[in-house]
Parts: sequence; C-alpha cells; structure tokens
Amino acid sequence: MHGNSFATNKPDGGPAVMLAGHVDEIGLMVHYIDDDGYLFVKAIGGWDTQVLVGQRIEVFAKEGPIIGVIGRRAIHLMETDEREKAVKLKDLWIDIGAADGEEARGRVSVGDCGVVRSDTISLGATAIAGRSVDDRAGAAVALEALRRASERGTAARVIAVATAQEEISGKSGGGARTSSFEVKPDAAIVIDVTHATDHPLSDKKQFGDVRLGGGPVLSRGAVINPRLVEALSASAQRSDIPIQWQAAPSVTGTDADSIFTSRSGVATAIVSIPNRYMHSPNQLIDLEDLEAAVEVIVGFLTSLESGAPFLAE
Ligand SMILES: [Zn+2]
Repeated sequence: MHGNSFATNKPDGGPAVMLAGHVDEIGLMVHYIDDDGYLFVKAIGGWDTQVLVGQRIEVFAKEGPIIGVIGRRAIHLMETDEREKAVKLKDLWIDIGAADGEEARGRVSVGDCGVVRSDTISLGATAIAGRSVDDRAGAAVALEALRRASERGTAARVIAVATAQEEISGKSGGGARTSSFEVKPDAAIVIDVTHATDHPLSDKKQFGDVRLGGGPVLSRGAVINPRLVEALSASAQRSDIPIQWQAAPSVTGTDADSIFTSRSGVATAIVSIPNRYMHSPNQLIDLEDLEAAVEVIVGFLTSLESGAPFLAE
C-alpha cells in the first residue's frame, strides 16, 4: 500500500525488526507546456539545478516514456554576468522536439514525471555510479540482509520494506510512516546513503569525516536508539568490519525521522552507505561498503533472541 513493498521471513517470529530502504528517487514534474512545445518543470525532491543543465530526461507519459533534453541558452548567447550565476529551474526547459504546443500537449500532460536518463556504471575495482543509488542501494541492503538472515537462521521476524516517497516526505513521513504503522516493528533499521567527505572542497570540520570504502556509517543522536546502535556496532566488531560514525543531533533527513515516532515510538537506527555526489546523475558508492552493511545487519539479526533487549527500558 502507499507504494511500499514488503518481504518477510516468518510471520510469527519475534522481535519484529523492520529494515527500510526507500525506492523513490528525485525527479521532475511537468507543470506547464508553452505554445512552442517546451516543457517547464517543478522539482520532485532536492535538486542542484546546475546538474540538470545538459542532461537528457526520460518523461513517463501516458503512451510510454518520451525522451527530451534540458534546454538552456548556449554560452555564446549569455550575458557576461549570466555565465557566472547559478541557473534557476524556472529558466530551464525540456525540449522533446515537438513542432509546437499542440504536438507537445498531445504527447505529454501536466503532472507527468521524469528522471535524468543515465545508466549505472562501474568505476575502478569496486565502485559504481548511478542516478538512483540514493536509495536503491539501501533497499538492496535491506532485501539482501533479510535473505541472508533467514538462510543463516534468526529468531526475529524480519520485514524488509522498500519505502515510497522519502524524497518528498519532509515532515509528513512518506511511505516510512505508513509502512511502520502497518508493520508495528519492535525495532527498525533504516538503510540510506550519507555524504562521503573524502573529495575536494569538503570541510571535515563542518561535515565530519566519512570515507568511501571506510565501512558503513552508524549515527548517534536524538532519533537513534542507543541500545540498537550498540548492538549493530557489536555485530561489526564480531565480524571485524570497520564502522564510521556520524553525529545526528536533530532530525536525520531519512525515513528514520518518521519511523521512530510511529505509534508509541520505535527503537530505530540508521546504517548509512558513504556516497559522493548525492542527488546527481552519478552518485558514487563502494560496493564493499554495501556488502559490509549487509553483514553488520545480518550479524545483528542472527544474534537476536526472542524478546527485544534494546527495548527493556
Ligand atoms: Zn535523497
């Protein structure tokens, strides 16, 4: 329901541990088609408008996907000060090669959505870059952790949830709110990407120290249940998996924000995958961090006994 998908190992197990990764991604929505056939769009989620310039866009229209390109005045035609300024979304358009507004309106409707057209690629030995790494990576970890935990044996009822609408949820909570209400978990582990700070112009004093390939990231903070995070950290230690740490004093900007206040409160933790260039068409992660995240979660799940010790108080 609500676009969420669920997978579980055994309906009667306990404690109930929800693993959540969101499967929506940022995109664009057509809101105006002018008489020359150009599409103007609103943002679905948080775009850096600069990365849209020069991209190809796949618009999901009624009759099937349509390819368009982002149009902008060529550099030769810009005023000097325009070249130095950041472009605004209202000054970009999608050109689908339509002759006029009538043709464009016949192919695309107001409210149609689109994404940047880009394929996932491998880089170096273990890195990949792709458009929807945020957060298909997390959803993949959730499902794989469920699979391995049921293979190796766990007392827990593990529910892997591919959640909807994280990118637009804000305070409303999106699919994480409705799915955690449905699942009624004793504990929830949210798997999402977090900013790696190991690239140029990244200030560690401001954004902390997170490295690609340095292992999954555990957060500590108001949203996070300390016992649950300790149990995940202990699991990492048992398997000699390096962990990185992040401080989250307030809301986390992830599904955790809505899950931890679901019903009368859910013990929640976040396992994050270091990610460079978030919300760009080329979000880069290391598959070894992904693998390590799965093992940390599986190690935790297989160590659980009936009952939920992290909820004792
Ligand atoms: Zn995101």
